[in-house]
Amino acid sequence: MTTAVCFQCGHLKFGSFLACDECQAKPRTDDELIVSLAMSDHYFEKATLESMGQYIKEHGHPPQLDPEQEKVFRRKFEEVKASGVLDKLFQSNEDS
Ligand SMILES: [Zn+2]
Repeated sequence: MTTAVCFQCGHLKFGSFLACDECQAKPRTDDELIVSLAMSDHYFEKATLESMGQYIKEHGHPPQLDPEQEKVFRRKFEEVKASGVLDKLFQSNEDS
């Protein structure tokens, strides 16, 4: 299971696109989804994720990705979106 940082409260949660078990926030917009995709153990070490979480707790928003990174993650996100995984995910969330 993926470890990811909640884009809203900085809590380490499971699954980039799942609701945070701390604040219940779920990424909805493209920007929230991209930052959630980026802040996961697919791309960063646990220690880095923890400092990102700390940043969010202190500043109330996620650290800015540098433009090159953001381009990469945006492309990855488009792939994820095109695969239909997100539709399935949102569908099953609404069922439960
Ligand atoms: Zn949260």
